[in-house]
Amino acid sequence: MTAAQYGDWNVLAAKARYGINGWGNGYFDVNERGEVVVLNPLNKAAPPLSLLDVIGGLRDRELQMPVLLRIENIIDQSIRQLNESFRAAIGRAEYRGGYQGVFPIKVNQQAQIVEEVAQFGAQYGHGFEVGSKPEMIAALSSMAQGEGLLICNGYKDQEFIDLSLQAVKLGIRCFLVIESPAELPIIIERSKALGIAPFIGIRAKVISTIGGYWNATSGDRSVFGLSASQIIQVVDTLRANKMLDCLQMLHCHLGSQIPNIRDVRGGVSEACRYYADLCREGAAMGYIDLGGGLAVDYTGAHSQDGQSRNYSLQEYCEDVVDTIMATLDGYGLDHPTIVTESGRATVAYSSVLLFNVVDVARFEALPIAAPAEGEHELIRNMRDIQDYLQPKRVQECYNDAHFYRDEVRELFKRGQIGLRMRAVAENLFLEVLSQIKEVLAGMEQVPSDLENLEASLADIYYGNFSLFQSLPDSWAIDQLFPVMPVQRLDEYPDRRTVLADITCDCDGKIDRFVSDHGFESTLPVHSLNSGEEYYLGVFLVGAYQETLGDLHNLFGDTNVVSIRLNEDSSFEFVKEIQGDTIADVLGYVEYQTWDLKLRYRNRVEAAVKSGRISARERQEMLNTFDASLRGYTYYEKEHQSLLSSATAVAEGRAEAAPVLL
Ligand SMILES: *Cc1c(COP(=O)(O)O)cnc(C)c1O
Repeated sequence: MTAAQYGDWNVLAAKARYGINGWGNGYFDVNERGEVVVLNPLNKAAPPLSLLDVIGGLRDRELQMPVLLRIENIIDQSIRQLNESFRAAIGRAEYRGGYQGVFPIKVNQQAQIVEEVAQFGAQYGHGFEVGSKPEMIAALSSMAQGEGLLICNGYKDQEFIDLSLQAVKLGIRCFLVIESPAELPIIIERSKALGIAPFIGIRAKVISTIGGYWNATSGDRSVFGLSASQIIQVVDTLRANKMLDCLQMLHCHLGSQIPNIRDVRGGVSEACRYYADLCREGAAMGYIDLGGGLAVDYTGAHSQDGQSRNYSLQEYCEDVVDTIMATLDGYGLDHPTIVTESGRATVAYSSVLLFNVVDVARFEALPIAAPAEGEHELIRNMRDIQDYLQPKRVQECYNDAHFYRDEVRELFKRGQIGLRMRAVAENLFLEVLSQIKEVLAGMEQVPSDLENLEASLADIYYGNFSLFQSLPDSWAIDQLFPVMPVQRLDEYPDRRTVLADITCDCDGKIDRFVSDHGFESTLPVHSLNSGEEYYLGVFLVGAYQETLGDLHNLFGDTNVVSIRLNEDSSFEFVKEIQGDTIADVLGYVEYQTWDLKLRYRNRVEAAVKSGRISARERQEMLNTFDASLRGYTYYEKEHQSLLSSATAVAEGRAEAAPVLL
């Protein structure tokens, strides 16, 4: 690891170090002042927008951290690029069908996102995919007039089917995709009863194996889709009811975040085989829906690792178009309208989680006191390690330090030494380890036992956020999101850290980061400057994170702010949603605000009665209680002098934090 050191560090080094050129996808960059910026999607020549300017605007509006920042233009730009890339691929291949995208609502159901997709997508006939009645209602009421498709997946009861048939009557091309044979009789019965011919799709189980993180949605045991024999049953039933002309779509979903383009091609060509034979059976057909799967390059490595992708958007579109064309031309069939349900790639880039650092724990020794008269032998031994610490004996020194420290702990447990001596030993131990770390830095070959030493001595930066609320996939499935400081990137990041959230849950941490050489267990950051906030951003969090989040420790929804850039890179705060108050989250778990207040009032009043507090103190307590209920669930800083105690507190935390080696 030869990272640029103090001397040759600059903004270019920072960009490489945090990999922003890779995962930023033309949306994010670092400016010459060392701040993370949003490139203007409307105008490449316009100056980029610094996230620090956005943070300044949030501060002026008294919108507290953490904030989920949405950049509406990025949603627009993703939809534009998806549609235009397909159009270009279709033009280049002289494909004789069109492309119509749909946005799968489950990926981000927030009304503001759905509205933005509906409004901007209308010009491309970009529609929606829904998997439940609530999503159906959201889509039906948000969709703009126009050509957009509405694709209904999921298990559908009569009410769901009625909603869909009525949408058809309204002029919406609303497809009922059959996921289970049980749906068909209801569809036939309801369409006859209502006198509306349905648009029917069949969801096929595609068995091509798909590599990557989210691959369980395809294959034989997939819970979705019809087997070959079930498809034949559906076709025969439709034929018997003279409804084969309603069967117009083959649907499949290969899986989410498909990292390898070869798997996309394999899946598409299998889907085409289903499509061709349904044509041969006499179904009207005309649409082939390939579901989601277009991946996001979270690491920026452009590889077939599960959190990356080895293809560009343009290659994806070209491969889909070419594969369909090559397969169906072989059967002399017309080219169908291509539908995809890209969710992740459409909204991931548009949201950034911003938070400040509230505290730091450092694993460093306090100044070492001179040897005391009659010092315990173990302590003397620990001091002596420094005398033989050299590259050749580094492993031995490391083992000795552990041995003496563990002996001291043992004696403490048995009551043979006191807390003071234990503290001296622990402090010396940290000192020896940091000296070993320095020796290792100059060595070519590091003993394998010691490879993780740097990580185990890393700081802990405590971020003002809840992993469970804002980054659930980071906790649940170890998904990587790019994380980096949003300021001071022209300065050498002199510290290494892991990130902990403020839930006090040992799972509430991030200890895997994207870097220029793959993954790392620590993040380079700057020492905090006293009196100055230090902000970090977690990027690419617009897909799947918002509705999966939970109320761990009762941290609620964060503040959400949407901005929109103008052509000259001025920007507007177009929407804001206040995060949950403490009363809100308590309400979610069935506490009534009035009842809480009443109980607390009774308790405080009783204290007045017994003479424990005065009536005036009573009022102060009730005011604090009231203000708390109305306040934000996260760490609020206004009354706090910043970072005055950062390192002092840090020493106290060191013991409680993850065990050293
Ligand atoms: C989840 C899902 C999608 C979205 O997949 P992405 O990989 O996010 O694009 C599309 N279609 C169906 C049926 C899904 O279940």
